[in-house]
Amino acid sequence: TETTANLLRSEMEESGGDVTAAAAETQKVLSLGDVHMAVFLGGRLLTANYPNEPTLNVPEAAFRAAEAANGPALSTVDGYGEEGARLAVLRVSAGEADYFLALAQPLHNTVEELEVLGRIFYLAIPGALLVAGVGGLLLARKSLAPVAAMTEQAESISARNLHERLEVTNSRDELGRLATVLNNLLSRLDRSFESLRQFTADASHELRTPLSIIRGEAEVALSQKRDEAEYRESLAIVQDEARRLSRMVDDMLALARADDRQQGLKVEEFYLNDLVEDCAKSSQVLALAKAISLTLDPATDITFRGDESLIRRMIVNLLDNAIKYTPAGGHVSVKLTSRDSSVEIAVADTGIGIPADATARIFERFYRADRARSRSDGGSGLGLSIAKWVAEAHNGSIHLDSRPGAGSTFTVRLPLNKPNA
Ligand code: ADP
Repeated sequence: TETTANLLRSEMEESGGDVTAAAAETQKVLSLGDVHMAVFLGGRLLTANYPNEPTLNVPEAAFRAAEAANGPALSTVDGYGEEGARLAVLRVSAGEADYFLALAQPLHNTVEELEVLGRIFYLAIPGALLVAGVGGLLLARKSLAPVAAMTEQAESISARNLHERLEVTNSRDELGRLATVLNNLLSRLDRSFESLRQFTADASHELRTPLSIIRGEAEVALSQKRDEAEYRESLAIVQDEARRLSRMVDDMLALARADDRQQGLKVEEFYLNDLVEDCAKSSQVLALAKAISLTLDPATDITFRGDESLIRRMIVNLLDNAIKYTPAGGHVSVKLTSRDSSVEIAVADTGIGIPADATARIFERFYRADRARSRSDGGSGLGLSIAKWVAEAHNGSIHLDSRPGAGSTFTVRLPLNKPNA
């Protein structure tokens, strides 16, 4: 309204007070469209752009309001169809005269426009929702497709095909990383399944030998009548093999326990020097029987926190081996040394030694460097695996130093702090 008024004012100045020409020019410049424009002077209509339309009926009140107001006076008037019109009246002072500029916009257009807009919304909003919904569904399905594929692959992997892996399409995105993590997990599972399979296979193989000896002896003894000496001989063999069997089962149980991490150590405090001495004493009988001298270097009192029966088992295993693999006339020694924060138990012998290529595998389950000798002496092939596990369960380590033909030294180092309970 103000722009129209300003323009009208300057047009009037230009046309030298010709209101009709000025109004026509203003209209042309502004292209007012369906806006009705009229100029009044003292309540008298001077000019209007739509003279044939229902006359712009400006009520008296509108003029008064415009006179009082500092800007355009707005109101709604009848006479423009059902909806009437929005009217703005503004006083325009040009020269000495006070003109009134009235602008009216019929409301029916606006209502129609609103209706059209409403129709558009009625159609467009459900349409847009539909497009967004379908698009979202397709997008979600497309982006989740790799997850579905991965789920399917993972579902098809069981204990029987643990070597299979999930497909990694892009190792840098989240799904790729997830697949890699799952694959690593599968690898670990696969390895532990494999070692379990190996252990079971080895164990049944190991158990089969003494069992078939026992069966064979019994069958031979029972096949015909024999004298007492022969029966005794057979029974002695059966007894030997039965002993070997119980020792193997014992060792297997110990290792099964080692694998079951849930079952912790029975940690207590004891004198390690007393325990070592005890073990040496009980091995003395074996050593004497083989004409081997066994010595124990005296040690000061060392208190140790750990699983006493497991530590005993470890030392006995090392001593048994030392005696087993040392020929008559040889020498076995046990030494316990205490350092700042650890203790060392060294079992040395002057026996057959261990060939260099076997030293790496000596702690493996069922591994034997000298199969014939190990068997004839009732070894289970598990003694060193157990010793290694016991040392490691106490956060320690076991180390082998050996020269074939000259002897071996097994050294266990145990920290004096708390073990893995
Ligand atoms: P085994 O019941 O056969 O003795 P171990 O696990 O105790 O089983 O030992 C594994 C193998 O290591 C033995 O078969 C033997 O070949 C070798 N070995 C262990 N201790 C000694 C040792 N002190 N001297 C020579 N060889 C040894």
